[in-house]
Amino acid sequence: MSKDNRLIVSKFGGSSMADATAMNRSAAIVAGQKSSVVVVSATYGTTNQIIEAAGHAENGRKPEADAIVKQIRDKHYEIADELGASDAVRDSLEELLMEFESLLTDLQNFPDQSLRIRDAIYGIGERLSSRLFTECLEKHGLSSRYFDAASIIRTDDRYSRATPVFDEVERLSNEHLKPLVEAATPETIVTQGFIGSTALGIRTTLGRGGSDYSAAIMAWALQADVLEIWTDVGGVATTDPRITPEARPIRELSFQEAAELATFGAKILHPSMLIPAIWRETPVYVGSSINPEEGGTWIYRDVGEAPLVRAVTIRRKQSLLTITTPDMLNTYGFLHKVFKVFNDHRVSVDSITTSEISVAMTVDDVTLEDHDMLRELEELGRLHIEKSYELVAVIGNNINHTAGLARKMFKALADINVRMICQGASKHNFCVLVDEGRGEEAVRRLHAKLIEGDVD
Ligand code: ASP
Ligand code: MG
Repeated sequence: MSKDNRLIVSKFGGSSMADATAMNRSAAIVAGQKSSVVVVSATYGTTNQIIEAAGHAENGRKPEADAIVKQIRDKHYEIADELGASDAVRDSLEELLMEFESLLTDLQNFPDQSLRIRDAIYGIGERLSSRLFTECLEKHGLSSRYFDAASIIRTDDRYSRATPVFDEVERLSNEHLKPLVEAATPETIVTQGFIGSTALGIRTTLGRGGSDYSAAIMAWALQADVLEIWTDVGGVATTDPRITPEARPIRELSFQEAAELATFGAKILHPSMLIPAIWRETPVYVGSSINPEEGGTWIYRDVGEAPLVRAVTIRRKQSLLTITTPDMLNTYGFLHKVFKVFNDHRVSVDSITTSEISVAMTVDDVTLEDHDMLRELEELGRLHIEKSYELVAVIGNNINHTAGLARKMFKALADINVRMICQGASKHNFCVLVDEGRGEEAVRRLHAKLIEGDVD
């Protein structure tokens, strides 16, 4: 428990684990506030390297795979050296690296089991970093305990994008994790983001960037008072600062605003992460472990002010799918059939418009790789696919009840062609679909007009 008896779950991303310096900075944060549970990502870039190694191994390129294993080994031993890690920790690293190598061999030998083996491989990065970070906390004077997240994050067997089974997670957490957190003299628990396991004990992962989600699931299961996401920037901004230097930090966000931001492209928040936080209304803090004084963003249920426009986001690589059918005329059930296809293929549709005989929806480009899905949609009507769009969203409050906002937006967009607009369903967003390459300019103009307050 923290000094003021709050139960804090803190997640540190890859940049907060990048090397011994980054780990020491993160450890100072944990020690300063006394987090109960610390959830870590793999060290910076390691998951990408692991995936690359798996690709080489699967295709019989052993020397290339070995070279990457060596890089990962060197990186982790270097951190171990700098931290002055014990032999026990070094042995545990060695064990994991040997497991990594033997899984790579399995991948080459059993290509039919690639998905399953890959998930066991992908989680190695988090298992390595969490060993090192447990040791780092010890060096900062905290008695700490390494905890296997897979022992409580029960999931289905949809490898590489597994879904948690929440009831089971709660039961397992009550059994294995809660007693540790509530002990009379609790240790700081260090565990892994991203990984889980099925009821049969087979390793799974929650999808790229899934460590935030893991932390949120654990905070939910423990009924934590605070969930912290420590990253390399000081919270959420009014837009991506790489697009415009005028982007400003946002100090407070409501859950709804944050959910819209995550869905419409703010990379800093993992879209699924907010779901368990919203269920138990757990306050979420997003801050920078590199520069904690910079301050961050709090996400709550109720925030002090609800500005009309809070942020402008961009979601890239969008396709527009239009299904046209005369059958839709004066009938019902058509949209049900369309969404059943998306549901069966677990594809999320971000915005949608309908007319009497057609429905148009945006989806991520990658979903077009699902040929079965496209075939099933084609059975429902004439399917027209347009690629290469970007979805730009204005996120805020009371957007659908405010006169004049659309006029301002279209004035700002001026010559940028808008292929589709989506407004009305949510009071929190107004989306426009623009050609690829025009999205950033649209963001800059909307940000200038609606947030920097340029007069028209
Ligand atoms: N290490 C995993 C990834 O890079 C999970 C995470 O960092 O959130 O996707
Ligand atoms: Mg992340």
